[in-house]
Amino acid sequence: MLGSGHRVLVTGGAGFIGSHLCEQLVRAGHEVLCVDNYFTGTRANIAHLLGDPHFEAMRHDVTFPLYVEVDRIYNLACPASPMHYQFDPVQTTKTSVHGAINMLGLAKRTRARILQASTSEIYGDPTRHPQTESYWGNVNPIGPRACYDEGKRAAETLFFDYHRQHRLDIKVARIFNTYGPRMHPNDGRVVSNFVVQALRGEPITLYGDGSQTRAFCYVDDLVDGLIRLMDTPAGETGPVNLGNPAEFTIRELAEMVLRLTGSRSRLTFAPLPPDDPRQRRPDIARARALLGWEPRTPLEEGLLRTIAHFRLALGMGPVRSMA
Ligand code: NAD
Ligand code: UDP
Ligand code: UDP
Repeated sequence: MLGSGHRVLVTGGAGFIGSHLCEQLVRAGHEVLCVDNYFTGTRANIAHLLGDPHFEAMRHDVTFPLYVEVDRIYNLACPASPMHYQFDPVQTTKTSVHGAINMLGLAKRTRARILQASTSEIYGDPTRHPQTESYWGNVNPIGPRACYDEGKRAAETLFFDYHRQHRLDIKVARIFNTYGPRMHPNDGRVVSNFVVQALRGEPITLYGDGSQTRAFCYVDDLVDGLIRLMDTPAGETGPVNLGNPAEFTIRELAEMVLRLTGSRSRLTFAPLPPDDPRQRRPDIARARALLGWEPRTPLEEGLLRTIAHFRLALGMGPVRSMA
């Protein structure tokens, strides 16, 4: 590999967050190796990077061992949308657990610093609000979301045990709901669903009565937080919550998407999926103190950029005038 920066491995690098991360790392002067099995990621997400001599893409499933020479690893490989992680739940747990073991084994051999993309889902349906990193969570271990939640919890355990047992230099980020350009249109997550439905004039599908809450972080802000966490001194392991503390009900999100798209779509109501968390909002005091980080992009601004992306992705062309 060329260049003066770090040799960075990004697993899940062809996915939504991973592709933005690869882009920022290449831009910052690092050599980036993107590893992905293209389960939910796409080559289109990284097509613009393929000609860059500082970027390389490799098809590989992290549940199998990987022998490469790197000094930093961002472990993002794992489907993140409930629709996708419940498609093959056994593979989801394997990806989190075997994937973590293999990437930690790789970090142990190369002495690379390694960051895990953990999730707010490790808090489950939280009984404390907002969620601080000291909260241990409320997860149903046998429900349909468990393959993701418990897989990510086991991955955190493995990270901290490799740190204690093998002195690995680890960083654990607990990422809250993130949205933005390059979310898959059929991803099933709420922002992509609502934007695509609004642009197509289809009904907006609210699960339950829409009173459940989430806090939405724009992808550029999140990637900035991940890179800052990776750059903290050795010994700063986290976990660190990364998310936008501005909390909205799902109904408020639907109404904002309708207003920003100028859509006449109507709202329809479908049953709430089992174990769907009632409320979620990060406490980001630790990220503020440790990383000097907080999100900069208000939901409305991030949604406008996301809507512009989906208009192009759906072949609708750019916006002529704002309604
Ligand atoms: P995504 O589905 O777009 O990206 C995941 C990527 O991992 C895809 O490119 C997929 O093909 C790849 N992948 C899946 N299984 C793999 C395997 N076995 N081997 C190699 N590659 C594999 O999702 P995303 O939103 O970009 O999420 C990225 C990471 O961030 C995930 O680990 C997710 O759990 C975490 N995260 C995301 C959010 C969010 O709101 N987007 C929130 C919390 C945590
Ligand atoms: N591993 C890997 N790449 C490496 C080194 C290890 O994928 O460069 C995998 C290896 O297959 C092993 C796992 O990481 O199963 C855990 O490695 P570790 O050294 O912790 O365990 P051990 O090899 O002793 O079982
Ligand atoms: N949701 C919804 N309609 C949709 C997709 C999701 O009302 O078309 C709800 C879902 O039930 C949940 C919230 O929006 O309460 C966020 O869902 P998402 O799958 O995006 O993320 P997660 O539940 O993992 O936070």
